[in-house]
Amino acid sequence: MARAHNFSAGPAALPEEVLREAQEELLEWRGERASVLELSHRGKAFVRLAEEAEASLRRLLQVPDDYAVLFLQGGATLHFALIPMNFAAGSGGDYVLTGHWSEKAFKEGGRIGPARVAASAAESRYTTVPPFSAWDLDPRAAYLHLTPNETIHGVEFHEFPDPGPVPVVADMSSTLLSRPLDVRRYGLIYAGAQKNIGPAGLVVLIVRRDLLERCPSALPDILSYRRHAEEGSMLNTPPTFAWYLAGKVFAWIERAGGLREMERRNRLKAELLYRAIDGSGGFYRNPVEPAFRSWMNVPFTLADPALDEPFLREAERHGLLALKGHRAVGGMRASLYNAVPVAAVEALTEFMGDFARRHG
Ligand SMILES: *Cc1c(COP(=O)(O)O)cnc(C)c1O
Repeated sequence: MARAHNFSAGPAALPEEVLREAQEELLEWRGERASVLELSHRGKAFVRLAEEAEASLRRLLQVPDDYAVLFLQGGATLHFALIPMNFAAGSGGDYVLTGHWSEKAFKEGGRIGPARVAASAAESRYTTVPPFSAWDLDPRAAYLHLTPNETIHGVEFHEFPDPGPVPVVADMSSTLLSRPLDVRRYGLIYAGAQKNIGPAGLVVLIVRRDLLERCPSALPDILSYRRHAEEGSMLNTPPTFAWYLAGKVFAWIERAGGLREMERRNRLKAELLYRAIDGSGGFYRNPVEPAFRSWMNVPFTLADPALDEPFLREAERHGLLALKGHRAVGGMRASLYNAVPVAAVEALTEFMGDFARRHG
């Protein structure tokens, strides 16, 4: 058996080069006579690794100095709760609902404090982004929460109306590092690593430092972004192996040519797949309004759902893994994160064409 093309939504494909490097140095790392898995996070070697990973991420995203970069835990889901705990004292957050994950963030936000829906695409069954004219932004909101890429519904957007002084908080779990980004437009960006960054268990968070002063002193340290920033994300034992692998992924992106190159590849992969779907004469369908189609997660259905099972079975035999759609939308989903090569998408579209010819 050989490694196959992996279209998993998360935990997702990692660059093979990164896995090989990690394999080679698993037992002994950087002359430490031990595995990176076995070293103290407070030792010199790991501290250096942590600094290098942060510096690499800062170069990739051109993170300004007045932003802190944190390496945390708990998945994006913990941060659905921590964001209002840290920032929503008094006034609540505004949420724009564009799919499954923004709905979740909103629900969790509402358990902590007031949370308001500023706009919702629920009526479209999350196939579009509400027009800016329909966004009802509260100028006193503690923050405006967006989910720029909805991993399940396959809706992506990077433009939004200027919310004035209200900081924009963005769950970028499945799109961070897929293309260049102007960090300055955001107060806080967070991303679970297992989509486009590295292994599960790590959350990367980028936050404007002045916002950290709003974190209530009464919060337990472990829940406080201010305290995590003060301690360099080493308030307690961080997920060291995930941090190490994320650092390797950042270095791999830098070597490949940075986020401009990721953008070029990701645009190409998405175009290939959407063209195959749209050109199938209705055999395959993607329901999302073209302007908001995700580059990272492409859901599609087969005209005849009775063909779903044979499609998945044959795809696996062709070395195309994890194409089953999320139960919330059904059908198929191909996730095309940075580590998925163009060749994988070519193999997928070729298989799709062939399957349609045989069953259409
Ligand atoms: C996967 C995902 C989450 C949930 O992440 P967990 O690590 O399971 O908590 C949240 N938001 C988005 C956009 C995601 O893709």
